[in-house]
Amino acid sequence: MRVLFIFLDGIGLGENNPETNPFARAKMPNLNALLDGRSLLKESAPFQGEYASLLAVDPAVGVRGLPQSATGQAILLTGINIPAELGYHYGPKPNPEVAAYLREASLFSRFVKEGKRAALLNGYPPRYFDGIDSGKRLYSSIPLSVINAGLPLFRHEDLFAGRALSADFTGEGWRTMLGFAEAPVMDAHQAGQKLGALAKEYDFALFEYWASDYAGHKQQMDNAISLMETFDSVLGGLTEAWDENGLILVTSDHGNMDDLSTRKHTAAEVPALVIGNKSARAEFTRDMKDLTDIAPAIWKTVMKES
Ligand SMILES: [Zn+2]
Repeated sequence: MRVLFIFLDGIGLGENNPETNPFARAKMPNLNALLDGRSLLKESAPFQGEYASLLAVDPAVGVRGLPQSATGQAILLTGINIPAELGYHYGPKPNPEVAAYLREASLFSRFVKEGKRAALLNGYPPRYFDGIDSGKRLYSSIPLSVINAGLPLFRHEDLFAGRALSADFTGEGWRTMLGFAEAPVMDAHQAGQKLGALAKEYDFALFEYWASDYAGHKQQMDNAISLMETFDSVLGGLTEAWDENGLILVTSDHGNMDDLSTRKHTAAEVPALVIGNKSARAEFTRDMKDLTDIAPAIWKTVMKES
């Protein structure tokens, strides 16, 4: 069964406090419909419904300190308790010790070895590759694991040809921030439909969204609300385009946006929102407690014949 993994950076399940938590304020009707009226808040989990399940998952994995992106993403990709093995959380970009885990052990490498079709659906702009080539930019854990598996990172040509999706979902940023006046732009609902259509080409597809973590560090309430309302429209288009033969997973590496009173990451648990076939969801979420339980659940779901 196929899995579409939507990675939202810096999203924790926080308190129902409209002063500090954009999830207590954002209008997210598509998400509410999936969760029988609930929002992405601590008080909403655990939940098992007709269309979706919501669990609270521990990103600290028993290691003191606040969880960070390099180790958090590496756990999501490998299922290995890397902070416990190294003795620390690390980020945002992987150091050599964390990077070492992102070779054979990642889901991308393992799926490729099994002959499964796997992809990271983001389209990256030329300046991203310029930064990498000049040594000014380091790969984060997710693209590093893709490269290590021998898979391509999608480029602007792929985005223009409809083979990849913009990091902001709609493509607006390619016109306003990246100077591509001709870049294809969709509304958020269409972007969700596109995400669903792209994911159907693969057994395992991942989409990475980092603006949420950025808004958390910048403590931008209005921006955070607007990002999540856009994401909700994406979710609407996506679930419309989805079918029974696949699960959608939305999860994160650590909290951040859930408490805008601090610019740091939070100690909150992160959501594992799973959408799709009820019995497949029950299997997927069984005994799911911390971040190390996600990768094995993805592996089992994708490897199971359906
Ligand atoms: Zn961060």
